[in-house]
Order: sequence, then structure tokens, then C-alpha cells
Amino acid sequence: MEKPIILIAPEEVEKPSSSAFPFSWQITNEAYINGIVRAGGDPLMILPGADIKRMISLADGILLQGGADVDPECYGEERNTLCGKTNKREDNFHIALIREAITQKKPIFGICRGIQIINTALGGTLYQDESLSGTALEHKRLDSPLEAVHKISIEKDSFLSEIFKTDSISVNSLHHQMIKSTGEGVIVAARAEDGNIEAIEKGNIIAVQWHPEAMLMKEDLMLPLFKYFIKQCKKEKNI
Ligand code: MN
Repeated sequence: MEKPIILIAPEEVEKPSSSAFPFSWQITNEAYINGIVRAGGDPLMILPGADIKRMISLADGILLQGGADVDPECYGEERNTLCGKTNKREDNFHIALIREAITQKKPIFGICRGIQIINTALGGTLYQDESLSGTALEHKRLDSPLEAVHKISIEKDSFLSEIFKTDSISVNSLHHQMIKSTGEGVIVAARAEDGNIEAIEKGNIIAVQWHPEAMLMKEDLMLPLFKYFIKQCKKEKNI
């Protein structure tokens, strides 16, 4: 059976020290690729400069992965000193991808920065740092990238309750920004113990604040989440 093509929106990073060329790189990592492949999709990276309309029309779904902070200008706020490094050109590229995928009704899956840029593209706002949300919970746990570090409560009738058939699971957490106000038509699908938003959905858009692809490198608990996304992509493709 033909596999759905999943476009991965890359992250722009500075040149690695091993390279003599003074050029940035466009990257993804093996965990995102593994998640798509294991769930039955064909991963393909879309690069800046590509004809977005044409590339989205060739694809069956799009993955927005983790990465840099979103420029506060994108959601109409002044930069706080706690905001990290941003890349407006990358933000504009990702927002254009999201808008075109929505126009062409292609399923979208957002992870970490992905949930933030999707919410921004839909008119929502972000906390520029977890401390500004007033949380007592530590969400930036870089010490254990593959481990569940906090619980989330899953909303009834959400895509997550359909996938996991429970009202609570534990997830990893490597973010310092999070959703403040939701974008137009965005439904909250899960919240952390501190009330912060950990998952959203809108039509065939799904997004999570944690890193299921990283957890999947250790155990299969998150595989059904990737399978759900690929199933949506197949539905859209009628295969
Ligand atoms: Mn978290």
C-alpha cells in the first residue's frame, strides 16, 4: 500500500564546528524520522525557498518539530528578556507552511515549538518563559529528555482520549515557553498539573507540548500518537 508522504519542517541551526563553510544548516533528528517511519509514513524534508503550495499539494501531512523560540512579534508582543533566541525568517516560513496546509486541508502534527508556532499561526499567544505563567512546575527538564517528568490530564472527547483511552498520562518536558491564549477555534486537549496547556487540536490539526518522538526511542507508549496522525493523513489521501 502506498505510504503517505509527511513533510518535515526543518530547524535552521548555525554551522557545526566540523564544517569550514560559514553557512547555516537545515536539520531534523533521527527521532522524528523514526516516529514517522514506524507509524507507516514516508518522511520528506521541505526546505526554505521551495514552492510551498506545490510541495504541500504533493504531500499528505506535515510535521512541525521542536526548535527555537517563536519571535514575540509574530503574536504581537514585546520581547521579554527571558525570551530565547529567535529566527523571524524561520517563523515566517513555518507559518506559511501551516497556512497552506490548512488551505489544502492536509493534516498537521506539531511537537514542542510545533504547538507554539501552530497556535501563533492561528492567532494565539505564548508565555515567553515558563516563569511568566506563574507555574511552580519545572517544564524545562533537559536532564531527562526521554523520561516522563510530569503528568497531563486529557480532556474528554479529545484526540488524546481517543488514542490513549485514559484521562491521564505522564510525559517528558523540555520547553520553557508555552501557550498563553489559544488561537481561533483551537481546542485544548490536555493540561499539565499546573494548568498549562500541553496539547491542542483543531480539525485535522493536532499538537503536543512534549516530545513523543524522543519517548518513542525508548518505549512504544507514544507510537499510537504517531499512528493516529498517519491514519489522518491516509484518510485525507483516501488510502
Ligand atoms: Mn511540560
